[in-house]
Amino acid sequence: MNEGIINAIEQIVSASNVLENEPMSRHTTFRTGGPASLFIRPENKDQLVEVMALIKKLGTEFFVLGNGSNLLISDEGFDGVVISLSKMNDIHLEGDNDIYAEAGAMNSQIAAFARDNGLKNFEFAAGIPGTIGGAMIMNAGAYGGEMKLVTRSVTVLSPEGEIMVLDNSSMEFGYRSSAIKGRGYIVISVLLSLEKGDKETITQNMQELAAKRREKQPLEFPSAGSTFKRPEGYFAGKLIEDAGLRGFSVGDAAVSEKHCGFVINKGNATSAEVYELICEVEKRVYENSGVTLEPEVIMLGKF
Ligand SMILES: Cc1cc2nc3c(=O)[nH]c(=O)nc-3n(C[C@H](O)[C@H](O)[C@H](O)COP(=O)(O)OP(=O)(O)OC[C@H]3O[C@@H](n4cnc5c(N)ncnc54)[C@H](O)[C@@H]3O)c2cc1C
Repeated sequence: MNEGIINAIEQIVSASNVLENEPMSRHTTFRTGGPASLFIRPENKDQLVEVMALIKKLGTEFFVLGNGSNLLISDEGFDGVVISLSKMNDIHLEGDNDIYAEAGAMNSQIAAFARDNGLKNFEFAAGIPGTIGGAMIMNAGAYGGEMKLVTRSVTVLSPEGEIMVLDNSSMEFGYRSSAIKGRGYIVISVLLSLEKGDKETITQNMQELAAKRREKQPLEFPSAGSTFKRPEGYFAGKLIEDAGLRGFSVGDAAVSEKHCGFVINKGNATSAEVYELICEVEKRVYENSGVTLEPEVIMLGKF
């Protein structure tokens, strides 16, 4: 990337948080993906706002990264700036029952913090291996819980550089979607509204849900969780199984034997192999059942 851009970014974000040609396989749970021309980690809101103003002024391509747990990044990588929010991860109490979390805080850490403070209703998210920022984009959910049910407000940075606070109703939460998707907002922080609960019960709930995940999901392999959205009236995993695709593979990318809704990386899969597998699964499921599967996983770069 142009030296001038790097120098200008290093005026805002410390040089140790500005990496060139950073392999994205280090930052996705699929463990695939080529290099980002520039990979930066702002440490706070002010740095994020300033860096975004600069990127906008320069017209540079950018991508905001949470924990990379819902991403397939091409093997060629991304010719632009990846902005990782991993250093913006403050979590603290606001009042009695609310938790403030910066966008880069992990759901697992927030769930542990909620438990330690005797606050319930966030247990469902403990096993979703992403950030709270990423969870807002997707209205992430599991086991009957979803972000919509626990979010009081979300502070975002608009593409015009304005900081806005969106309350729950303005978030337009839907199935794996929210107002943030498509509007180019960047989540800066979230205020979660929880309820007082019994620590023992919260701990037990979290343990039970973790055990369910270990039993049903191939957590021993890299993946991006459920690869496809749930088609209305069906389960993606069942459709894939019925199409005879359990264990079906392209190179080291495979439909999990344990849970057909998961595409896994058995070792050295490339993003191209994962992509080819996804396309083949979509095709065969359609031929077998007439149902169109749509990837839940977000793709970045050329495929
Ligand atoms: C083993 C496993 C189990 C999973 N189980 C579940 C589950 O039960 N329920 C579920 O809903 N999901 C699940 N997922 C998928 C994934 O964890 C969620 O979709 C998660 O919310 C993604 O968050 P992230 O921080 O990793 O986002 P990323 O994958 O980094 O990014 C996803 C999208 O969000 C955008 N984004 C991220 N942060 C911000 C921000 N601060 N501002 C603006 N845009 C942002 C990115 O640009 C990208 O478009 C699972 C994944 C795995 C690997």
